[in-house]
Amino acid sequence: MSANVGRVREASVSRYTAGRLSPIRRVADLRRLRDEQFDVLVIGGGVTGAGAALDAASRGLSVALVEARDLAAGTSSRSSKLIHGGLRYLEQLELHLVHEALTERGLLTSRLAPHLVRPVPILVPLPAASGPARVWHRAYYGLGVAAYDVFAGVFGNGRGMPLHRHLTRDGARHLFPSLRADKITGAIRYFDGQVDDARLVVNLARTAASLGAAVVTSARVTGFLREAREVVGVKVRDLEAPDSPEFEVRARTVVAATGVWSDDMSQMLSDVGVRPGMRVRASKGVHLVVPRSAITGEAGLILRTPTSVLFVIPWGGHWIIGTTDTDWHLDRSHPAASARDISYLLDQVNTVLDRPLTTDDIEGVYAGLRPLLSGEADSTSKLSREHAVVEPMLGLLLVAGGKYTTYRVMAADVIDRAVRRLGGRARPSLTDQLPLLGADGYPAAWRDRQDTARRHGVTAGVIEHLLERYGTLTVHLLAMMANDPALAAPLDGAPEYLAAEVAYAALAEGALHLDDVLTRRTRISIETAHRGSETAAHAAQVMADALGWDKAVQEREIEHYLARVEAERQSQMMPDDLTADAARIGVPDVRGFAADRGANDLLEIDL
Ligand SMILES: Cc1cc2nc3c(=O)[nH]c(=O)nc-3n(C[C@H](O)[C@H](O)[C@H](O)COP(=O)(O)OP(=O)(O)OC[C@H]3O[C@@H](n4cnc5c(N)ncnc54)[C@H](O)[C@@H]3O)c2cc1C
Repeated sequence: MSANVGRVREASVSRYTAGRLSPIRRVADLRRLRDEQFDVLVIGGGVTGAGAALDAASRGLSVALVEARDLAAGTSSRSSKLIHGGLRYLEQLELHLVHEALTERGLLTSRLAPHLVRPVPILVPLPAASGPARVWHRAYYGLGVAAYDVFAGVFGNGRGMPLHRHLTRDGARHLFPSLRADKITGAIRYFDGQVDDARLVVNLARTAASLGAAVVTSARVTGFLREAREVVGVKVRDLEAPDSPEFEVRARTVVAATGVWSDDMSQMLSDVGVRPGMRVRASKGVHLVVPRSAITGEAGLILRTPTSVLFVIPWGGHWIIGTTDTDWHLDRSHPAASARDISYLLDQVNTVLDRPLTTDDIEGVYAGLRPLLSGEADSTSKLSREHAVVEPMLGLLLVAGGKYTTYRVMAADVIDRAVRRLGGRARPSLTDQLPLLGADGYPAAWRDRQDTARRHGVTAGVIEHLLERYGTLTVHLLAMMANDPALAAPLDGAPEYLAAEVAYAALAEGALHLDDVLTRRTRISIETAHRGSETAAHAAQVMADALGWDKAVQEREIEHYLARVEAERQSQMMPDDLTADAARIGVPDVRGFAADRGANDLLEIDL
């Protein structure tokens, strides 16, 4: 085992500089992939893979992370964006899962990422009912929410959240005037954590990079290198250089954290008769985004639906409403929301709103795929009902399942296994002690935001916006704006974001394409009714200046982005999954990853 901390990062190089995912860094990391043998190579730059890369790097292992598309391009940018213990698990008496998740919630809000994870108030409306039922509802939900708070306080590393409160009907409507009075007798308000899921993943990857991990996106694994019956590395295709040949990356342990693509990993070994050890199926969840003005309320809602729960969560100047839960067998790269999904969500939320929402209210729609474990889980490796780590072949560990909130636990579990395999004396997981980039000094930076605004000649609102997205790394964006005042300008069509954020995404956050910036580094693609199309030209110009794109590249990027938006709009008018998918796949991924369709998927489409 090699202790690599300090090899990439000289003592004179700050943690921030070492964690910059710049174009030059990508070239250097690509070279490292070809030249080095890594202790751990992680496939998949979602929250699980980025978390695993950070866990391994912080233990002093040499690490590479390869992601086929962009960081968080899979499920990890498409969640409900809650860091939560899960009231549902409490109801199912899965107490250890609640405990685990609330511990993580406490760590993230207090120590690891207070700049990215914040408390959000949520109401549990108590349904209108007569005498005894009304008492029973309040007692049942009240006990559940109280237990949630107690769990968080006693076991959960400190709540980091205010305590719950019971509200009368008037109290509930005071907090949420849009709630229909005839539908409720009152409510209970509790708190959970909220996160920009894509940004936290980028931050995890950058923190791993700051500790020496090579992080390369647009790098698709196409096969495994094997010696006898052992995996000793992977074959990689650089999707930014489609004409260049595949190359080999050697590693002592390969960790596949590929979410709903996990079965593809075992299929790559099917010629040697490997049993996968677990299977992962995809369940689609769709969310709608509507403007804050469409609903009057100061808290979120959690509602029961016939099959699951529905969240209505405040999100800056917007609300996020979701989600659905249906099996998905089609294109996993671009799961499509259909008109049926959208009308289901509108029907559900309209049961409690005094002014029903219509499709005219919708600004954005996004769909994600839950990686659910199904069957075949090897009981000796199964670490909880929620996630599993298996070793289908010597040298290859698969980790899947779980949820966003508990990414750190999954990461520690799989890297514990890797460390045992490597046989050395690596330290145990340290990530519960390791603030992510931008977290150090955050409370003081937040306290001093008015002064900072005065010193830099911007409004306090701008500083708050930046602090909540970059933490103490905000100083770097302010420096860029001071050097080039054009970067202080708001973006066309999305004035809450600044041009500097686009330049920073390209120069420090590993964004390679316009889509990366409009969809994941910012959320303009779901937060504007034009879905980013009115921002595309301005953002592409800023990226061109930062990355040296010529006119042709700039135009191609804009063209692709607009075509993607149009294909999504079309798919959302289609009646069902099959037709929605057919409309969406007309525009392939900007990196060409969408060619990936499993054999079953093709069969289904042919039929
Ligand atoms: C609708 C919905 C709502 C959710 N809400 C919440 C919530 O509020 N809170 C919560 O805690 N959890 C939530 N979850 C669950 C959570 O989002 C997921 O469990 C988590 O994001 C999965 O992360 P992952 O890294 O395992 O997978 P992914 O994010 O999908 O990452 C896998 C990555 O592997 C890459 N990859 C695949 N094949 C290859 C290859 N050959 N080479 C290189 N890279 C490859 C993919 O491009 C992808 O980026 C939700 C899930 C859904 C679908």
